[in-house]
Formats: sequence, C-alpha cells, structure tokens
Amino acid sequence: MLNVEGLTKSYQTGDSVLPILRGVNLSVEQGEFVAIMGPSGSGKSTFMNMLGCLDRPDQGTYRLDGVEVSKLGDKQLARVRNEKIGFVFQSFNLLARSTALHNVELPMMYAGVSRSNRRKRASEALERVGLAQRMFHKPTQLSGGQKQRVAIARALVNKPAILLADEPTGNLDSRSGTEIMAMFQELHEQGVTIILVTHELDIAQHAERIVTFKDGVIIRDERVENRLIAVPSDEVIVT
Ligand code: ADP
Ligand code: MG
Repeated sequence: MLNVEGLTKSYQTGDSVLPILRGVNLSVEQGEFVAIMGPSGSGKSTFMNMLGCLDRPDQGTYRLDGVEVSKLGDKQLARVRNEKIGFVFQSFNLLARSTALHNVELPMMYAGVSRSNRRKRASEALERVGLAQRMFHKPTQLSGGQKQRVAIARALVNKPAILLADEPTGNLDSRSGTEIMAMFQELHEQGVTIILVTHELDIAQHAERIVTFKDGVIIRDERVENRLIAVPSDEVIVT
C-alpha cells in the first residue's frame, strides 16, 4: 500500500542546513493500523507531511497505492493529496463559520462532486462517525471529541487509500481521546489503512504496530503485544 525508501529532508535556517529526516524506510500494508512515536522534534510531523503530500522530500522514493508519488509534478501531487489521502490534525482545522456538513463537503467540492451527491456522502460520513444529530452544528457548538470526529468524517469522505493522523488526541482530554481511539479502531476493523502519530504510549498501544523515530530515523518497529481496546464509554479493556 505504502512504501518509503531513503527519505531525507533538511530545512534551511539562516545559513545553516538542519537535517530533519535522515533516511527513513517504511512499508505499510493495506489495512494496517500503525502508530508513530518518538520525542518532540524527531521529525514525525515532517514525515507525515511528506506522506500526506503536503511537502516534498529532498531525496528518496515514496510509493502510495501503486503511484510513484516522488516523481509527480505539483498538479498531480495535489490530485493524489485530494484523492488518496485523508489527513487529521491535532488542531482539527475546521472552518469555524461553517456547519459540520459543509466542512465535510469541502474536499468533494475540490474533487468536483455534484451538490446533491456531496450532501448525501457528507451526511453518510457524519453518520459513520456518530454525528448524525450534529450535522448543522458549527465547530463552536461541538465538543473537542466531536470536532475531531467531524475532521475524521472529512478525511474519509473521498474514500482515501490511507488515513493519516498527526497527534489527533493531542488537544483532547483523556475521555475524548479514548472516544477518538475507539473511532480509529472501528475504522481499522472496517479495513481503513491508518498511520497515527502520538507521543503517548497508551494511545499508541491501540494500534497494531509501533514505529519509533529518533533524530530523523526509525530506531524501532514492533508489533503491539497487549493491544488496548478503546470503548467509547470510557472503559478500556486489555485483550
Ligand atoms: P515532531 O513532529 O517529531 O515533533 P517535527 O517534524 O515537527 O518534529 O520537527 C522536526 C524539526 O524540524 C524541529 O526541530 C523543527 O523545528 C524543524 N522544522 C519543522 N518544520 C520546519 C520548517 N518549515 N522550517 C524549519 N525547521 C522546521
Ligand atoms: Mg509533530
């Protein structure tokens, strides 16, 4: 599904060049649920931005769902971003003045889907994340967990090949964080491929596999032995 080889990225600050990613290799199979961990500044977000086609690497190859992303021009890259990638951010990134429904419709407007189809698909996506009763609410009228569920619905509405989430529970209290992890686990059960960044071990342990970054490289890649199962009602069961 996803394959990255020898990915590097540096940032120029003043006249010094700071290497952030120093040769990252990673393969993710269809349907996998992977958590990325690592200290602050280790390059996790930089890496996710490459995977999400929000930025380009300096070197290395990136293949996603049969497409050699690293060889694409800007226009094609934008297309891959819109058609194959769903991205969820720590800060939700919702339009404050728009309803949940309109926020979820937005990616389909870029994709040229007709108005009636947009409505239908956006309401289905909101139902899927349990927000059928909140479609006409604006972000200020929703809790943190509900806002993040709107963002997840928006990320899924174009049926992406992969769902990327960078610290999706970082702005949430632990109860809402658990609610969001229950959501991700349900999507995983339905076959969605997920890569999620977190610096909290007990969030990462909801995934099947934990990949650890340090100083711009992957230093560990292991299966989760005692996976945590999140129950939306706040209880946590260890399998
Ligand atoms: P993480 O998500 O693991 O905390 P990041 O990928 O956000 O780490 O950042 C890694 C390093 O890259 C940090 O030291 C950060 O300051 C630097 N960095 C990130 N983006 C930029 C940028 N656009 N310009 C310069 N430096 C950046
Ligand atoms: Mg980060």
